[in-house]
Amino acid sequence: MKTLAAAGVRPGLAVVLVGHNPASEIYVRGKVKACEEVGIYSEQHTPSETAATSELLALVDDLNRREQIDGILVQLPLPPQVDSKAVLMAVDPGKDVDGFHPVNVGFLSTQRPGLVPCTPAGVMEILARSHIPVAGQEAVVVGRSDIVGKPVAMLLLNANATVTVCHSKTRDLAEVCRRADILVAAIGRAGMIIPAFVKPGATVIDVGMNKVIDPEEFQRLFGSEAAKQFANNSKREEAFKAKGSTLVGDVHPEVAAIAGALTPVPGGVGPLTIAMLMYNTVKAAKLRRGSRMPELASK
Ligand code: NAP
Repeated sequence: MKTLAAAGVRPGLAVVLVGHNPASEIYVRGKVKACEEVGIYSEQHTPSETAATSELLALVDDLNRREQIDGILVQLPLPPQVDSKAVLMAVDPGKDVDGFHPVNVGFLSTQRPGLVPCTPAGVMEILARSHIPVAGQEAVVVGRSDIVGKPVAMLLLNANATVTVCHSKTRDLAEVCRRADILVAAIGRAGMIIPAFVKPGATVIDVGMNKVIDPEEFQRLFGSEAAKQFANNSKREEAFKAKGSTLVGDVHPEVAAIAGALTPVPGGVGPLTIAMLMYNTVKAAKLRRGSRMPELASK
């Protein structure tokens, strides 16, 4: 940021939020707030719920052309009438701060500089900053989505882990997971990874974000003494009673008793995802403008 500021450049992020999905609205608010905190220019575009693919393509085209905009983020999911893949494909790969464009996917898999998806990049940042070794380790990723599972597996592979990717058709999931020195859960099922899936001492990264509203489900997750002991759960129980919901990862809280390290939900991968979006916006500004401003290219 300092190098950019010295060159008179303020990176800019455009967020496209279609319709009124409450979860998406919360995510976008967090992203815009983070931009304000770090000094990135941001603007929101809010086409209506009934927007057609052509309208969104025209908006993306306009953002692709604007000099002030370095990053374009199209908040998913898009409404069903919209061809999401066409919209994501239309984003200039140099402004694709989500890293979803096939050009950036190709850069990642061939280890060339490009924009890396934010949540997977956040997972790697957590491992690096926690001094968890990756090279030579057995890593198991549960989930194979384009957004999380596949790119996180590719990043771990690029960092020289031995990587296994699991999904809903994997046989003996618990047994495969128990091989992991590093276990990444990106499934979308509250508390699915129970202690029987985890090798004692393993590092467990919980990417899941699931809203729990059923009191019985809450008890399954947080009712035992072991769970109460580890996850600051007295406060969570009070909040659940007051609000009627709580945010839970894919990893059961009891896993804290045997894992060597475990990321919390909320407060683990989520904030890192936003931090990596800021990082990608600054990186996109440098990469895109670097060809015209050599003083940025090498920084
Ligand atoms: P997704 O597209 O629904 O993919 C889920 C993956 O989990 C799929 O590959 C699926 O397998 C696999 N799966 C589902 N049930 C399974 C089972 N019983 N056993 C083994 N594998 C199973 O979800 P996503 O977008 O990757 O997101 C995953 C989770 O991460 C969600 O909770 C989401 O909210 C959260 N997330 C968090 C952040 C963050 O910033 N923290 C960002 C993005 C996503 P198949 O491929 O066989 O169907």
